[in-house]
Amino acid sequence: MKRIFAIAAGLLVAATCTTVPPSIAGDDAPLFGFSAESSRVERQWEEKFKTIPKPENLREYMRRLTARPHNVGSAYDKENAEWISAKFTEFGLETQIENFDVLYPTPKERLIELVGGGPYFKAKMEEPALPEDPTSNQKSEQLPTYNAYSIDGDVTGPLVYVNYGVQEDYEELERRGISVKGAIVIARYGHAWRGIKPLVAGEHGAIGCIIYSDPRDDGYTGGETFPKGAWRPKDGVQRGSVQDSAVFMGDPLTPGVGATPDAKRLAIKDAQSLTKIPVLPISYADAQPLLDAMSGATAPRAWRGGLPITYHIGPGPAKVHLKVASNWDIKRLYDVIGRIRGAEFPEEWVIRGNHHDAWVNGAEDPISGMVAVMEEARAMGELVKQGWKPKRTMIYCAWDGEEPGLLGSTEWVETHVDELKKHAVAYINSDSNSRGYLGLEGSQTLEKFMNDVARDIEDPETKLSVWKRAQLAAIRTAKSGDERKEARSRGDLRLEMLGGGSDHAPFNNFAGVAALGIGFGGEDGGGIYHSIYDDFYWYTHFSDTDFSYGRALSQTGGTAMMRLADADLLPFEFGDFADDVRMYVREVKKFAGEQQDEVNERNREIEEGAFSATADPKEKYVPPSVEEVPPHLNFAPLDNAVEKLNRSAEEYKKALEAARANGSAMLAKASLRDLNEMLMQSEHKLTTAEGLPGRFWYKHELYAPGAYTGYAAKAIPAVREALEQKKWKQAEEAAARVAHVLENEAELISEAARKLAGEAKGK
Ligand SMILES: [Zn+2]
Repeated sequence: MKRIFAIAAGLLVAATCTTVPPSIAGDDAPLFGFSAESSRVERQWEEKFKTIPKPENLREYMRRLTARPHNVGSAYDKENAEWISAKFTEFGLETQIENFDVLYPTPKERLIELVGGGPYFKAKMEEPALPEDPTSNQKSEQLPTYNAYSIDGDVTGPLVYVNYGVQEDYEELERRGISVKGAIVIARYGHAWRGIKPLVAGEHGAIGCIIYSDPRDDGYTGGETFPKGAWRPKDGVQRGSVQDSAVFMGDPLTPGVGATPDAKRLAIKDAQSLTKIPVLPISYADAQPLLDAMSGATAPRAWRGGLPITYHIGPGPAKVHLKVASNWDIKRLYDVIGRIRGAEFPEEWVIRGNHHDAWVNGAEDPISGMVAVMEEARAMGELVKQGWKPKRTMIYCAWDGEEPGLLGSTEWVETHVDELKKHAVAYINSDSNSRGYLGLEGSQTLEKFMNDVARDIEDPETKLSVWKRAQLAAIRTAKSGDERKEARSRGDLRLEMLGGGSDHAPFNNFAGVAALGIGFGGEDGGGIYHSIYDDFYWYTHFSDTDFSYGRALSQTGGTAMMRLADADLLPFEFGDFADDVRMYVREVKKFAGEQQDEVNERNREIEEGAFSATADPKEKYVPPSVEEVPPHLNFAPLDNAVEKLNRSAEEYKKALEAARANGSAMLAKASLRDLNEMLMQSEHKLTTAEGLPGRFWYKHELYAPGAYTGYAAKAIPAVREALEQKKWKQAEEAAARVAHVLENEAELISEAARKLAGEAKGK
């Protein structure tokens, strides 16, 4: 369900610091975690591997998998899972399908009608078939446009336009003295995950929520609309889940445990993650008459979209009747799990996955990623036939039920969590794929590793390495001189934090397994996300039409999998990691300082009468009230922990250099096993059993999707979110707790360094 990143957002690099010298992997330097000899052998196999993935195979898999709609519970979803399973088996993987039974609502009744303030209008909520697009007419199998996990409801009320419907928008409404109590809000898609919109609306007293795709964000402002161009046509609708993911992800009836057929389930009425108010998504063709029937204050400039109307906030006089009812059924999930058993360390698992379910035909989301994973799995099977024996076990997964709420991956992880904590080395996720730059995100203990992998993959368009292209893009899109300097000189590009929104989340946030997210994007735009037009016709006309970036994704994922599976010493590295943590701590402290400055300044302006003096007396305006200035908080424990982390990273680096200098064979196998076991715990050490405050499922203390942002990740979330909510004491307590977690991590790294140094000396 993840959206392809936009390069303009400057996602590839974050802030300043240059502690790590550049380390460009040349062919003669041994790969990180390998001896000179094992590195040579590994490189030979990797070169063979990279020649295997074929664009024409990717194209054929996509044609097969997107031939019919394949949402959860559909006939073709099951057929696809069985077909992928047969393919995995044919490739040589030991494959099985694991089933889970989950709550999955589908639409029974959907109604939005304008019943006052303008001429009667009934929203069409229907995406028309197009003659040139051969799968767009499969009406009987297409899920109608809706937001899954909206509660049932039948409400009538005045309409209020709330821009993107996030917290700041409600602060703006407050300044204008406009309340949404008893109203139905209309919000445009964007700026936060869609599930946040009904959540925040409900908290402010709204009784219903409509979400629409505004052409300024998603439509003709981007370019020609489909089928002439790639962008969202006037009747195109973004489906999507609105499940409240702040507390947990996965099946609403089995929080924190696997939804196996015999699992204990909550009654639907007790499910906490359904929305509190009814919500429906619509197209911009359907939104225009509703917005046009509104008056009241003119919307501020930043709130105006791309429709040829004057945007008003309301409330009313437009009055809307909104009705939603779903079939609240339990549906079966089909997760495909294929294994290649490791020859030396079969109990250490390297895991790769992508989801196979879609909202409709889903060519871009998710099949463009899924086909790359399949081709990667085929290539691994080929290598095994040629005599390659991966040291560790490789697991290839095709998840079901990602779209409604990461159901397939979450239920699988929850079912196998104890094994994963013991055996999982890392999880590599992809979701969709198109042309452009490699997005690098994930656990920063694998930052150096992933940078090295990217240096060895060729970009299909420029023939530069995909790393070099990503670096140059980071330089071009840097938002400050410091950022630009860092992109040029830091050596490794920072891995962005993983947010929510795809199948890496249960691995990283819940089980504490190191995770990576990979995918190409940034060059293709488009507007077919979660609509019937995300299909083979659209993808092969407007996206990675020759599947060369599909092949590059196979090569990237496969190289990472092979290296993790074959390394003598697992390639976790802590110098980059410590530097990233230092940056996060600095950002949290800066944020706390900015909060103080902001409140101080506002209080002063209130005292000076600045607000009332500058407000237009002909318009309603409610000045803000004086607020208590946030206290100075004690972040010293975090600073101390960062210092410790830095020292331990140095120790590990020195021990590693000594081991390298000691000869070609790195370490005896028995000691390696012990050491690797410690390294495998390095991510798990960053979790706490109780999880974040009020969010038990999110156990990782360094990263989490924001409770009020959805997809976007927050660093040191327990501290950050307490600050945002102005809970000062809780922020300070959280800082101490996170510091403790980081100190434990530092101890583990130091212990690993001592072990490595001792073994190196002993040889
Ligand atoms: Zn997806």
